[in-house]
Amino acid sequence: MISAWDRPAPEASPLARTNAAGMDLAGLRHLLADLGEPPWRGAQLFEGLYRHRWTRWEQFTSLSKELRTRLSGTVDLAWPGLVQSRTSEDGSTKHAFQLADDRQVEGVFMPYEGRVTLCLSSQVGCAMGCTFCATGQMGILRNLTAAEIVGQVVAMLNHHGHPEGRPINLVFMGMGEPLHNLDHLMAAFALLTDPKGLAIPPRRITVSTSGLVSGIERLGAFPKRPRLALSLNATTDEHRSRIMPVNRVWNLEALAQALGRFPLQSGERITLEYVLLKGVTDGLEDGRRLAAFARRFPSKINLIPFNPHEGSGFEPPDEARVGALCRLLVEAGLTVSVRRSRGQDVAGACGQLVRNLRLGPHPGPEVED
Ligand code: SAH
Ligand code: SF4
Repeated sequence: MISAWDRPAPEASPLARTNAAGMDLAGLRHLLADLGEPPWRGAQLFEGLYRHRWTRWEQFTSLSKELRTRLSGTVDLAWPGLVQSRTSEDGSTKHAFQLADDRQVEGVFMPYEGRVTLCLSSQVGCAMGCTFCATGQMGILRNLTAAEIVGQVVAMLNHHGHPEGRPINLVFMGMGEPLHNLDHLMAAFALLTDPKGLAIPPRRITVSTSGLVSGIERLGAFPKRPRLALSLNATTDEHRSRIMPVNRVWNLEALAQALGRFPLQSGERITLEYVLLKGVTDGLEDGRRLAAFARRFPSKINLIPFNPHEGSGFEPPDEARVGALCRLLVEAGLTVSVRRSRGQDVAGACGQLVRNLRLGPHPGPEVED
């Protein structure tokens, strides 16, 4: 069966001018060499871009004024623009980013005591077609580039004045299926984790997948990689195939085997996200099957009450049922958290991320402290 996710997603159109934002060190060295400058200055550019998060050439005071003038005449420094921001009562802010082709994606800034978690998008839309997810209903428009992924981080940190050195967690739980855009995702990961740049430790970056087994296997082969979360969301093939079409290709058994083979580091666990849809996935029998699935590899469970959005046809679970499921899993000896979605009043909770803030997705996920 050929599915939308078997094909590579469309890519961004090439830009008219060279853009330094999102370039890696080798690219920056080439750029300077082309301008007749010593390539070692590339490291200064790299630090300015990713450590200091400078966004205008005049801020690059480590370079001569003459070089800054030449750069601003020939090379763009263009991150995605932050076009709309809405802060929720709980302090999380949902941002809409304008891309060079006028498309928009969304990210969420969630401050916690002493750290921050940023929820990032990986694609414009999504090919996976999950029936409960607003992004899934858009279809796939295109992949984000590495620059557009890193740009969401730079723009949000700058907007909120995040001080260098304070811990940052990143979760790819916004728009898109990150493992359907693995090349750009890993290029962004290299920039985000570089000790001379943003220096975010790999263990603080979590990629959430709907269960693209080919992508899980490719990700596991990288010597340095982000952590993995799986959106399980249902415990029988019948139910899962109905709400997540990817399950018709890789069913629960194929998934469990792929996760069992995933090369975890010592102490590392796979997060199982489980969206509770009233009357569909929130039964106590589901809880027991979820427990059995979770025991097959080192895992922790994150229960996510469904965030309603217009026309979805699903409803959130009753509070009492969330509590009962949580108890059942804890009694089964599993690590469980319930995601109290942050930013719900600005449509910033998971699966509500769509084309614009009016309709708008996303959550307060469990990550490393
Ligand atoms: N595509 C990836 C990552 C983005 S979705 C994935 O599916 O894992 C991030 C999380 O939001 C997933 O766990 C998904 O199941 C969940 N989600 C999607 N729509 C939701 C909704 N309306 N309410 C609650 N969670 C939702
Ligand atoms: Fe795509 Fe994730 Fe939404 Fe499914 S839940 S449609 S994979 S964004």
